[in-house]
Amino acid sequence: MYKAIVIGTGPAGLTAAIYLARANLNPLVIEGLQPGGQLTTTTEIENFPGFPEGILGPDLMDNMRKQAERFGAEFKSSWVDSVDFSQRPFKVKVDGLGDLEAETVIISTGASARYLGIPGEQDNVGRGVSTCATCDGFFFRGKKIIVIGGGDSAMEEASFLTRFASNVTLVHRREELRASKIMQDRAKENAKISWALNRTPLEVVTGETGLKGLLVRNNESGAEELIEVDGVFVAIGHTPNTAFLGGQITTDENGYIMVRPGTTETNIPGVFACGDVQDTRYRQAISAAGTGCMAAMDAEKYLEGVMVHDWSETLDK
Ligand code: NAP
Repeated sequence: MYKAIVIGTGPAGLTAAIYLARANLNPLVIEGLQPGGQLTTTTEIENFPGFPEGILGPDLMDNMRKQAERFGAEFKSSWVDSVDFSQRPFKVKVDGLGDLEAETVIISTGASARYLGIPGEQDNVGRGVSTCATCDGFFFRGKKIIVIGGGDSAMEEASFLTRFASNVTLVHRREELRASKIMQDRAKENAKISWALNRTPLEVVTGETGLKGLLVRNNESGAEELIEVDGVFVAIGHTPNTAFLGGQITTDENGYIMVRPGTTETNIPGVFACGDVQDTRYRQAISAAGTGCMAAMDAEKYLEGVMVHDWSETLDK
Protein backbone atom coordinates (compact mmCIF):
# COMPACT_ATOMS: atom_id res chain seq x y z
CA MET A 1 0.00 0.00 0.00
CA TYR A 2 1.23 3.48 -0.85
CA LYS A 3 1.17 6.43 1.50
CA ALA A 4 0.36 8.66 -1.48
CA ILE A 5 -0.59 8.17 -5.10
CA VAL A 6 -0.28 11.20 -7.39
CA ILE A 7 -2.43 11.06 -10.53
CA GLY A 8 -1.06 13.20 -13.37
CA THR A 9 2.34 14.66 -14.21
CA GLY A 10 1.94 18.31 -15.12
CA PRO A 11 3.62 20.98 -12.96
CA ALA A 12 1.10 20.37 -10.14
CA GLY A 13 1.57 16.59 -9.93
CA LEU A 14 5.34 16.73 -10.30
CA THR A 15 5.71 19.43 -7.66
CA ALA A 16 3.52 17.38 -5.30
CA ALA A 17 5.75 14.37 -6.07
CA ILE A 18 8.92 16.35 -5.25
CA TYR A 19 7.53 17.50 -1.90
CA LEU A 20 6.14 14.06 -0.97
CA ALA A 21 9.39 12.35 -1.96
CA ARG A 22 11.45 14.81 0.08
CA ALA A 23 9.17 14.05 3.03
CA ASN A 24 10.17 10.35 2.64
CA LEU A 25 6.66 9.31 1.65
CA ASN A 26 7.80 7.46 -1.54
CA PRO A 27 4.84 8.54 -3.67
CA LEU A 28 3.66 6.54 -6.65
CA VAL A 29 3.08 8.83 -9.63
CA ILE A 30 0.76 7.71 -12.45
CA GLU A 31 1.92 9.56 -15.54
CA GLY A 32 -1.36 9.74 -17.44
CA LEU A 33 -2.12 9.88 -21.14
CA GLN A 34 0.01 12.98 -21.72
CA PRO A 35 3.11 12.66 -19.51
CA GLY A 36 4.31 16.13 -18.55
CA GLY A 37 0.88 17.61 -19.28
CA GLN A 38 0.01 20.60 -21.41
CA LEU A 39 3.45 22.21 -21.14
CA THR A 40 4.87 19.47 -23.30
CA THR A 41 2.87 20.94 -26.18
CA THR A 42 4.20 24.47 -25.73
CA THR A 43 7.49 25.94 -26.85
CA GLU A 44 9.32 28.61 -24.90
CA ILE A 45 8.04 29.41 -21.41
CA GLU A 46 9.01 32.96 -20.55
CA ASN A 47 7.11 33.46 -17.30
CA PHE A 48 8.20 30.58 -15.08
CA PRO A 49 10.38 32.27 -12.43
CA GLY A 50 14.00 31.21 -12.29
CA PHE A 51 14.62 31.03 -16.03
CA PRO A 52 15.61 34.54 -17.17
CA GLU A 53 16.24 33.34 -20.72
CA GLY A 54 13.06 31.20 -20.81
CA ILE A 55 12.92 27.41 -20.93
CA LEU A 56 11.27 24.94 -23.31
CA GLY A 57 8.09 23.36 -21.88
CA PRO A 58 9.26 19.74 -22.32
CA ASP A 59 12.64 20.58 -20.70
CA LEU A 60 10.95 22.16 -17.68
CA MET A 61 8.77 19.09 -17.18
CA ASP A 62 11.71 16.75 -17.66
CA ASN A 63 13.66 18.65 -15.00
CA MET A 64 10.75 18.44 -12.54
CA ARG A 65 10.41 14.70 -13.12
CA LYS A 66 14.14 14.10 -12.57
CA GLN A 67 13.95 16.16 -9.39
CA ALA A 68 11.08 14.00 -8.06
CA GLU A 69 12.88 10.77 -9.01
CA ARG A 70 16.05 11.94 -7.29
CA PHE A 71 14.20 11.93 -3.96
CA GLY A 72 12.51 8.54 -4.47
CA ALA A 73 9.24 9.14 -6.34
CA GLU A 74 8.21 6.05 -8.33
CA PHE A 75 6.69 6.60 -11.80
CA LYS A 76 4.32 4.29 -13.70
CA SER A 77 3.62 5.01 -17.31
CA SER A 78 -0.09 4.25 -17.37
CA TRP A 79 -3.40 5.95 -16.61
CA VAL A 80 -6.17 5.63 -14.05
CA ASP A 81 -9.40 3.98 -15.21
CA SER A 82 -11.40 4.57 -12.02
CA VAL A 83 -11.13 5.16 -8.29
CA ASP A 84 -12.98 3.92 -5.22
CA PHE A 85 -12.95 6.49 -2.46
CA SER A 86 -15.81 4.84 -0.53
CA GLN A 87 -13.42 2.73 1.54
CA ARG A 88 -10.00 3.11 3.14
CA PRO A 89 -7.36 2.60 2.02
CA PHE A 90 -8.51 4.22 -1.22
CA LYS A 91 -8.46 2.10 -4.37
CA VAL A 92 -6.99 3.43 -7.59
CA LYS A 93 -7.55 1.22 -10.64
CA VAL A 94 -4.60 1.69 -12.98
CA ASP A 95 -4.68 0.36 -16.53
CA GLY A 96 -2.50 -2.75 -16.73
CA LEU A 97 -1.66 -2.69 -13.01
CA GLY A 98 -5.05 -3.37 -11.40
CA ASP A 99 -6.25 -1.97 -8.07
CA LEU A 100 -3.58 -0.10 -6.14
CA GLU A 101 -4.14 1.04 -2.57
CA ALA A 102 -3.22 4.35 -1.02
CA GLU A 103 -3.79 6.26 2.20
CA THR A 104 -3.95 9.54 0.35
CA VAL A 105 -4.54 10.47 -3.29
CA ILE A 106 -3.54 13.66 -5.04
CA ILE A 107 -5.49 14.44 -8.20
CA SER A 108 -3.54 16.56 -10.68
CA THR A 109 -5.00 15.41 -13.97
CA GLY A 110 -5.25 18.88 -15.52
CA ALA A 111 -7.53 19.77 -18.37
CA SER A 112 -7.77 18.83 -22.07
CA ALA A 113 -8.31 20.95 -25.15
CA ARG A 114 -11.95 21.60 -26.09
CA TYR A 115 -13.46 21.17 -29.52
CA LEU A 116 -16.30 23.17 -31.08
CA GLY A 117 -18.53 20.21 -31.89
CA ILE A 118 -19.32 21.51 -35.40
CA PRO A 119 -19.74 19.26 -38.47
CA GLY A 120 -16.49 18.22 -40.13
CA GLU A 121 -14.37 18.97 -37.07
CA GLN A 122 -13.80 15.53 -35.54
CA ASP A 123 -13.60 13.80 -38.95
CA ASN A 124 -10.63 15.99 -39.81
CA VAL A 125 -8.59 15.88 -36.61
CA GLY A 126 -5.09 15.05 -37.85
CA ARG A 127 -6.18 15.91 -41.41
CA GLY A 128 -6.11 19.66 -41.11
CA VAL A 129 -7.86 20.18 -37.77
CA SER A 130 -5.68 20.46 -34.67
CA THR A 131 -5.71 21.76 -31.09
CA CYS A 132 -1.93 21.97 -30.77
CA ALA A 133 0.06 24.50 -32.77
CA THR A 134 3.38 23.31 -31.38
CA CYS A 135 2.63 19.73 -32.38
CA ASP A 136 1.23 20.36 -35.86
CA GLY A 137 2.35 23.84 -37.01
CA PHE A 138 5.28 22.39 -38.89
CA PHE A 139 2.93 20.62 -41.32
CA PHE A 140 1.55 23.95 -42.54
CA ARG A 141 4.65 25.58 -43.99
CA GLY A 142 3.68 28.26 -46.49
CA LYS A 143 -0.02 27.43 -46.05
CA LYS A 144 -3.07 29.38 -44.89
CA ILE A 145 -4.38 28.66 -41.42
CA ILE A 146 -7.29 29.64 -39.18
CA VAL A 147 -7.06 29.87 -35.42
CA ILE A 148 -10.39 29.88 -33.57
CA GLY A 149 -10.80 31.61 -30.20
CA GLY A 150 -10.37 34.97 -28.50
CA GLY A 151 -8.35 34.04 -25.40
CA ASP A 152 -4.63 33.97 -24.62
CA SER A 153 -4.31 30.49 -26.12
CA ALA A 154 -5.67 31.66 -29.48
CA MET A 155 -3.33 34.70 -29.51
CA GLU A 156 -0.36 32.53 -28.61
CA GLU A 157 -1.19 29.85 -31.18
CA ALA A 158 -1.81 32.45 -33.91
CA SER A 159 1.49 34.22 -33.24
CA PHE A 160 3.38 30.93 -33.09
CA LEU A 161 1.81 29.64 -36.32
CA THR A 162 2.99 32.67 -38.30
CA ARG A 163 6.45 31.05 -38.14
CA PHE A 164 5.15 28.45 -40.58
CA ALA A 165 2.01 29.73 -42.28
CA SER A 166 1.82 32.27 -45.11
CA ASN A 167 -1.19 33.79 -43.34
CA VAL A 168 -3.14 33.15 -40.13
CA THR A 169 -6.75 34.28 -39.83
CA LEU A 170 -8.03 34.61 -36.30
CA VAL A 171 -11.72 33.76 -36.08
CA HIS A 172 -13.58 34.81 -32.94
CA ARG A 173 -17.29 34.78 -32.22
CA ARG A 174 -17.33 38.26 -30.67
CA GLU A 175 -15.87 41.68 -31.50
CA GLU A 176 -13.98 41.89 -28.16
CA LEU A 177 -11.13 39.57 -27.36
CA ARG A 178 -10.83 37.87 -23.98
CA ALA A 179 -7.04 37.68 -24.19
CA SER A 180 -4.73 39.79 -22.01
CA LYS A 181 -3.61 43.10 -23.50
CA ILE A 182 0.00 42.09 -24.00
CA MET A 183 -0.99 38.96 -25.95
CA GLN A 184 -3.54 40.90 -28.03
CA ASP A 185 -0.97 43.60 -28.82
CA ARG A 186 1.59 41.02 -29.89
CA ALA A 187 -0.88 39.37 -32.25
CA LYS A 188 -2.16 42.69 -33.60
CA GLU A 189 1.37 43.85 -34.39
CA ASN A 190 1.96 40.69 -36.42
CA ALA A 191 1.45 41.51 -40.11
CA LYS A 192 0.79 37.85 -40.97
CA ILE A 193 -2.34 37.71 -38.79
CA SER A 194 -5.70 38.81 -40.26
CA TRP A 195 -8.84 39.14 -38.19
CA ALA A 196 -12.30 37.68 -38.74
CA LEU A 197 -14.08 38.89 -35.61
CA ASN A 198 -17.76 38.51 -34.83
CA ARG A 199 -17.85 35.27 -36.83
CA THR A 200 -19.35 32.03 -35.50
CA PRO A 201 -17.74 28.84 -36.84
CA LEU A 202 -20.36 26.60 -38.46
CA GLU A 203 -18.58 23.79 -40.31
CA VAL A 204 -15.16 22.52 -41.33
CA VAL A 205 -15.60 22.08 -45.06
CA THR A 206 -13.69 19.51 -47.11
CA GLY A 207 -13.36 18.95 -50.83
CA GLU A 208 -11.94 16.18 -52.98
CA THR A 209 -8.37 17.07 -52.11
CA GLY A 210 -8.88 17.52 -48.40
CA LEU A 211 -9.67 20.46 -46.18
CA LYS A 212 -11.19 23.41 -48.01
CA GLY A 213 -11.89 25.88 -45.25
CA LEU A 214 -14.13 27.01 -42.43
CA LEU A 215 -17.72 28.06 -42.94
CA VAL A 216 -18.60 30.91 -40.58
CA ARG A 217 -21.59 33.12 -39.95
CA ASN A 218 -20.96 36.83 -39.98
CA ASN A 219 -22.85 37.83 -36.83
CA GLU A 220 -23.33 41.38 -38.05
CA SER A 221 -24.84 40.66 -41.44
CA GLY A 222 -26.06 37.12 -40.77
CA ALA A 223 -24.40 35.99 -44.01
CA GLU A 224 -22.45 32.74 -44.24
CA GLU A 225 -18.87 32.93 -45.52
CA LEU A 226 -16.35 30.26 -46.42
CA ILE A 227 -12.83 31.19 -45.36
CA GLU A 228 -10.56 29.05 -47.50
CA VAL A 229 -7.60 27.62 -45.58
CA ASP A 230 -5.46 24.50 -45.33
CA GLY A 231 -5.58 24.14 -41.56
CA VAL A 232 -7.93 24.92 -38.67
CA PHE A 233 -6.53 25.24 -35.15
CA VAL A 234 -9.12 25.19 -32.39
CA ALA A 235 -8.01 27.19 -29.33
CA ILE A 236 -11.18 27.67 -27.28
CA GLY A 237 -10.12 26.52 -23.84
CA HIS A 238 -10.06 23.28 -21.93
CA THR A 239 -12.17 20.70 -20.09
CA PRO A 240 -11.01 19.33 -16.73
CA ASN A 241 -10.04 15.65 -16.71
CA THR A 242 -12.36 14.40 -13.99
CA ALA A 243 -14.54 11.78 -15.72
CA PHE A 244 -12.56 8.89 -14.17
CA LEU A 245 -13.68 10.02 -10.70
CA GLY A 246 -17.18 8.72 -11.41
CA GLY A 247 -18.84 11.56 -9.50
CA GLN A 248 -17.21 10.65 -6.17
CA ILE A 249 -15.54 14.04 -5.84
CA THR A 250 -17.57 17.23 -5.73
CA THR A 251 -17.05 19.37 -8.84
CA ASP A 252 -18.56 22.56 -10.17
CA GLU A 253 -21.00 22.54 -13.08
CA ASN A 254 -18.11 22.40 -15.57
CA GLY A 255 -16.44 19.41 -13.91
CA TYR A 256 -13.66 21.32 -12.11
CA ILE A 257 -12.91 19.85 -8.66
CA MET A 258 -14.01 22.06 -5.79
CA VAL A 259 -11.48 22.48 -3.02
CA ARG A 260 -11.82 24.19 0.30
CA PRO A 261 -10.63 27.75 -0.43
CA GLY A 262 -7.03 28.28 0.56
CA THR A 263 -6.34 24.51 0.68
CA THR A 264 -6.31 21.53 -1.71
CA GLU A 265 -8.86 19.52 0.31
CA THR A 266 -11.69 17.91 -1.64
CA ASN A 267 -14.97 16.71 -0.14
CA ILE A 268 -13.25 13.42 0.82
CA PRO A 269 -10.69 13.73 3.62
CA GLY A 270 -7.38 12.30 2.35
CA VAL A 271 -8.08 13.14 -1.30
CA PHE A 272 -6.50 16.37 -2.53
CA ALA A 273 -6.62 18.22 -5.84
CA CYS A 274 -4.15 20.63 -7.39
CA GLY A 275 -3.37 22.32 -10.69
CA ASP A 276 -5.74 23.06 -13.57
CA VAL A 277 -8.19 20.31 -12.58
CA GLN A 278 -9.35 22.59 -9.73
CA ASP A 279 -8.41 25.99 -11.13
CA THR A 280 -10.78 27.97 -13.32
CA ARG A 281 -9.05 31.26 -12.75
CA TYR A 282 -5.25 31.31 -12.91
CA ARG A 283 -4.30 28.17 -14.87
CA GLN A 284 -0.60 28.98 -15.03
CA ALA A 285 2.31 26.56 -14.70
CA ILE A 286 3.58 28.43 -11.68
CA SER A 287 0.20 28.52 -9.92
CA ALA A 288 -0.27 24.81 -10.68
CA ALA A 289 3.15 24.08 -9.18
CA GLY A 290 2.23 26.15 -6.12
CA THR A 291 -0.95 24.16 -5.50
CA GLY A 292 1.04 20.93 -6.05
CA CYS A 293 3.24 21.94 -3.13
CA MET A 294 0.13 22.72 -1.07
CA ALA A 295 -1.42 19.31 -1.88
CA ALA A 296 1.72 17.46 -0.77
CA MET A 297 1.82 19.43 2.49
CA ASP A 298 -1.92 18.86 3.08
CA ALA A 299 -1.44 15.11 2.45
CA GLU A 300 1.52 15.04 4.85
CA LYS A 301 -0.54 16.68 7.60
CA TYR A 302 -3.39 14.25 6.95
CA LEU A 303 -1.01 11.27 7.23
CA GLU A 304 0.34 12.65 10.50
CA GLY A 305 -3.22 12.59 11.81
CA VAL A 306 -3.51 16.35 11.80
CA MET A 307 -6.66 16.66 9.74
CA VAL A 308 -6.68 20.29 8.81
CA HIS A 309 -10.43 20.43 8.20
CA ASP A 310 -13.27 18.12 7.35
CA TRP A 311 -15.49 20.18 5.15
CA SER A 312 -17.03 17.26 3.24
CA GLU A 313 -20.47 18.06 4.65
CA THR A 314 -20.32 21.66 3.48
CA LEU A 315 -19.28 20.56 0.01
CA ASP A 316 -21.85 17.77 -0.26
CA LYS A 317 -24.74 20.13 0.37
P1 NAP B 1 -10.23 31.05 -22.48
O1 NAP B 1 -9.58 32.22 -21.85
O2 NAP B 1 -11.35 30.37 -21.77
O3 NAP B 1 -10.73 31.52 -23.92
C1 NAP B 1 -11.48 30.68 -24.75
C2 NAP B 1 -11.87 31.46 -25.99
O4 NAP B 1 -12.57 30.57 -26.87
C3 NAP B 1 -12.82 32.62 -25.67
O5 NAP B 1 -12.49 33.74 -26.41
C4 NAP B 1 -14.18 32.05 -26.05
O6 NAP B 1 -15.06 33.03 -26.57
C5 NAP B 1 -13.84 31.11 -27.18
N1 NAP B 1 -14.82 30.00 -27.25
C6 NAP B 1 -15.16 29.14 -26.27
N2 NAP B 1 -16.08 28.26 -26.70
C7 NAP B 1 -16.32 28.59 -27.99
C8 NAP B 1 -17.17 28.07 -28.98
N3 NAP B 1 -17.96 27.00 -28.73
N4 NAP B 1 -17.18 28.64 -30.19
C9 NAP B 1 -16.39 29.71 -30.46
N5 NAP B 1 -15.55 30.25 -29.56
C10 NAP B 1 -15.52 29.70 -28.35
O7 NAP B 1 -9.18 29.87 -22.80
P2 NAP B 1 -7.62 29.97 -23.14
O8 NAP B 1 -7.35 30.98 -24.16
O9 NAP B 1 -7.24 28.57 -23.41
O10 NAP B 1 -6.94 30.45 -21.79
C11 NAP B 1 -7.16 29.70 -20.59
C12 NAP B 1 -6.30 30.28 -19.45
O11 NAP B 1 -4.92 30.04 -19.73
C13 NAP B 1 -6.43 31.79 -19.30
O12 NAP B 1 -6.38 32.09 -17.93
C14 NAP B 1 -5.22 32.33 -20.00
O13 NAP B 1 -4.80 33.57 -19.50
C15 NAP B 1 -4.19 31.25 -19.73
N6 NAP B 1 -3.16 31.24 -20.81
C16 NAP B 1 -2.05 32.00 -20.64
C17 NAP B 1 -1.07 32.02 -21.62
C18 NAP B 1 0.16 32.84 -21.39
O14 NAP B 1 0.15 33.71 -20.54
N7 NAP B 1 1.24 32.59 -22.09
C19 NAP B 1 -1.23 31.28 -22.79
C20 NAP B 1 -2.39 30.53 -22.96
C21 NAP B 1 -3.37 30.52 -21.95
P3 NAP B 1 -15.69 34.15 -25.61
O15 NAP B 1 -14.59 35.10 -25.31
O16 NAP B 1 -16.78 34.72 -26.45
O17 NAP B 1 -16.21 33.42 -24.40
